[in-house]
Amino acid sequence: MWFRRDLRLSDNPALRQALDEGEVLPLFVLDPVLWGPAGPSRRAYLAASLRDLDAQLGDLGAALQVVRGKPVNRVVQAAKAVGAERVHVAADYGPYGHQRDLDVEEALGGADIELVRTGSPYAVAPDRIKNGSGKPYKVYTPFSRAWFDHGWRDPVDAPTKAATKGSWLTLDDGTTDIPDPRLPAGLDLPEAGEAAARRTLEEFLDKVEDYDRDRNLPGVQGTSRISVHLKYGELHPRTVLKAVSGKRSKGAETYRKEIAWRDFYADVLFQRPDSAREYYQPDFAKMDYDDPGEAFEAWQEGRTGFPIVDAGMRQLRATGWMHNRLRMITASFLVKDLHVEWQHGARHFLHWLVDGDLASNNHGWQWTAGSGTDASPFFRVFNPTGQGRKFDKDGEYVRTWVEELSDPDQVPDPHEPSDEVREAVGYPAMIVDHAEERREALDRYERIKK
Ligand SMILES: Cc1cc2nc3c(=O)[nH]c(=O)nc-3n(C[C@H](O)[C@H](O)[C@H](O)COP(=O)(O)OP(=O)(O)OC[C@H]3O[C@@H](n4cnc5c(N)ncnc54)[C@H](O)[C@@H]3O)c2cc1C
Repeated sequence: MWFRRDLRLSDNPALRQALDEGEVLPLFVLDPVLWGPAGPSRRAYLAASLRDLDAQLGDLGAALQVVRGKPVNRVVQAAKAVGAERVHVAADYGPYGHQRDLDVEEALGGADIELVRTGSPYAVAPDRIKNGSGKPYKVYTPFSRAWFDHGWRDPVDAPTKAATKGSWLTLDDGTTDIPDPRLPAGLDLPEAGEAAARRTLEEFLDKVEDYDRDRNLPGVQGTSRISVHLKYGELHPRTVLKAVSGKRSKGAETYRKEIAWRDFYADVLFQRPDSAREYYQPDFAKMDYDDPGEAFEAWQEGRTGFPIVDAGMRQLRATGWMHNRLRMITASFLVKDLHVEWQHGARHFLHWLVDGDLASNNHGWQWTAGSGTDASPFFRVFNPTGQGRKFDKDGEYVRTWVEELSDPDQVPDPHEPSDEVREAVGYPAMIVDHAEERREALDRYERIKK
C-alpha cells in the first residue's frame, strides 16, 4: 500500500483492498520533487501527519516504511523486496501525480507487478462528471448539480487489529526516519492526524446550521477548518458528506456546495493541466502587469496600510491558513490594486498555506483575477476598506492580526485609521490609492477587451 494523499486508516478503500488480498507493506516515499518546493508549513504538517499514521499503524502491529527518492525507482524496489504482486494506491489526478503514477505503473509492469488504483482524494473523481454531450463542465453551477446527482459511495470501516494480525511486512533496508523539520519563528500549525481531523469535523457539525450566516465572517470561527485534513487525506470528503448528509439546514446545504468546489477545481485542473501556471482564459496573458517589487513585498509581509489585507497576510504567516474571504480580498488586492500577475501571489500562498493545494489555490486565484472558470467579472473590484467594514464590522479580525491596531482606545476605527493614529501606533500609510488603482485596472482590462 503506497500512501500519498490518504494518510488515514478509516474510510481508506485502497488500504482495505490491499489487506483483502494478503500481507501488506505500508509504504511512503519522500519524493524530493514534492518535498523541495513544499514550504515550511506543508513540510512540518506532512511530517506530523506521517508520525500519526505510523503510530496508528503501530496499534495494528505495523510500522510505516518511509523511503526517500524518486517513486519510479523506490516503489519498484520496495515492491520487489517483499515480492509484491500488486501496489495499491488511491488515484492521483494532479498534473505531477498523474504522470508520476503512469511512470511508476510502467516501471512496475516491467517487473510483472500491477499498480491498482482504488478511490481518489475526491468525493467524485475528476473526469467522471460530464455534460449531456459527454464533455467536462467549465462552469461550477451545472457541475455541482451533476455532482449531486452522481453521488458517492458510503465510507468504509478502518481495519481492526484482530482482522489484520500477521498481515504486515517491513523492508530490511533503505528506510529512513520521518523528518522533523523545524518551524520558522512565529508559525503555529493545527494539530495533524486522523484523530485531530475527526475532532475538527465533530466540532464543526455542532455549528453547521450557522455556516450559511457565519462563513463570510473572518472574526468568527464559522468555517470547518478541514481543508488541511482533506489535503493530506486524514479525512475523506465522503466521510464529511456522510456526516452532514442527514442535515437539511441551509447551512448544511451551502457546506456541501463548498465541498463540490474542491471537486470542481480538481476536475478543471485535470482537464487543463496547463491552467496550474497559465491563464485559463488566455486573453488575460495579454494584459499589462507590473513587475513584483516593493509593493509586492509589502503585500507579502502585511504592510500595505490596508488593515483587512494586512490582517489576512499576517494570519497566513502566523497560522499557515487564511479565511476564504481574506484569500479573495488579498488576491484581488494583489492583482487589481497592485497589478501583479496572479501566479506570484499563488506561489506565495502555496509557500505558506498548510492546506496549499494546486487545484483549489491556483483556480481560486484565477477566479479572483477574473481569468478563471466561472469568473467573477474583472470589473467587480473588491474595495478592501468596504470589505473590511462589511465582513469584519466590529474590527475583531483586524485587531487580532494587526497588533498595531489592536487597542480600541488608541485606534477607534481599525478599518480606516487616520494619519495621526497610524503615526502614533507605527502602522504604515496606504501604499496605493484604491480608487485610482481601480480605474487603472479597468483601463488595462478595456485594452485587452479591444
Ligand atoms: C485565492 C484563493 C486561494 C485558495 N487556496 C486554497 C488552497 O490552497 N487549498 C484549499 O483547500 N483551498 C483553497 N482555497 C479555497 C478556500 O479558501 C479554502 O478551502 C477554505 O478557506 C478552507 O477553510 P475551511 O476548511 O474552514 O473551509 P470551509 O468553508 O469550511 O469549506 C469546507 C471545505 O470546502 C472546500 N472549499 C471551500 N471553499 C472552496 C473553494 N473556493 N475552492 C475549493 N474548495 C473549497 C474546502 O475543501 C474546505 O475545506 C482558496 C481560495 C482562494 C480564493
